[in-house]
Amino acid sequence: MATIDLHSHSLHSDGELSPQDLVRRAAQRGVRVLALTDHDSLAGLDAAAAEAALCGVQLIRGVELSTQWQGVNVHVLGLCLDTGSASLQSLIASQKQVRARRARAIAERLQALGFAGMYEAALARSESADSVGRLHFAQELQARGVVRTLQQAFDRYLGSGRKAAVPLDWVDMDAGLACLRDAAACTVLAHPLRYGLSRTRLTRLITDFAAAGGQALEVSTPVQAVGEWPWLQMQAQKHALLCSQGSDFHGPSSPWAELGAFVELPAHLLPREQMSIDDQAA
Ligand code: AMP
Ligand code: MN
Ligand code: MN
Ligand code: MN
Repeated sequence: MATIDLHSHSLHSDGELSPQDLVRRAAQRGVRVLALTDHDSLAGLDAAAAEAALCGVQLIRGVELSTQWQGVNVHVLGLCLDTGSASLQSLIASQKQVRARRARAIAERLQALGFAGMYEAALARSESADSVGRLHFAQELQARGVVRTLQQAFDRYLGSGRKAAVPLDWVDMDAGLACLRDAAACTVLAHPLRYGLSRTRLTRLITDFAAAGGQALEVSTPVQAVGEWPWLQMQAQKHALLCSQGSDFHGPSSPWAELGAFVELPAHLLPREQMSIDDQAA
C-alpha cells in the first residue's frame, strides 16, 4: 500500500465519487498525499482541497490533460498546479469545447450504427456537457447489453480506429506541456505502457516528452507489473526524468485500481520537492 497517490478521478470527469468522497476514501485507506487529476478539468479541486484540510490529507491540485502525439492520444498529468494561470485556464476551456463536440460526434456515429439516444444517455451519466467521456458511452453500451464488458465497448466501438471513434482534436503534446510547464510544478507522462506502442515508438514518445520539458514518467500503478519498472526506470534515468506513482482510481466499481493499492517507489525517485511533499508522508 502506498501513502502517496498522484493520479485519481472524481465525477468532474469520468470518476464515480464527488471530490469530497474521494478525499475521505483516500484518508480511510491511509493515503496521506492525494492528487486529484480529472480529465481536462479543474472543477473538483477546490472542493477536494477543502475536504483534504479537514481529513489531514495533503491535496495536490492536478489535471490529466488529453493530448495528441503522432496521432496517438497521450495523457499528461500536471501536478501541483497554479490554477490561477491564465494560459492553463484558456487551455482547459478549449479542451472542454473539444470534449463537448466530440461527445456529439461519437453519438452520431453510434446512431448510424443503430444505437439511438446515446448522447442524452452519456450526458445523464456525466456531471456536465463538457465532461462527457468515452467511459460514459461504454457504461451505457454495457447497461443496454450491447457489450458484456467496458473493455469490449472500447475494443469494438470507442477505442482508436474503432467503429465510433472520432479523429483526435486534442492539444498537441508539446503545446500542452508548454502550458502545463507554466502552471505546474511537475508534468508526468501517464501510463506509458497503455498506448499500445512498440518499444521503439514508446522510446520516441519518451524522448519527445523529455525534449518538450516533461518531467516524470508514471512507473508504479496497480495495473503495471513491478517487472515493468526496470525498463521504465532506465528510460527515466536516460532522459533525466523523475518517476511517479498513482492508482488512476475511477471509483469503487473498478476495484482493481483502488486508491493507494500499488507499490511505493523509493522516495528519491518521486518529485517530492517539486510538490512540497513533506517527509512524514511516506
Ligand atoms: P476520454 O478521456 O473520454 O477519451 O476517455 C478515456 C478514458 O476511458 C480513460 O481515462 C479510462 O477511464 C477509460 N478507458 C479507456 N480505455 C478503457 C478500457 N479499455 N476499459 C475501460 N475504460 C477505458
Ligand atoms: Mn478516465
Ligand atoms: Mn489516462
Ligand atoms: Mn487517469
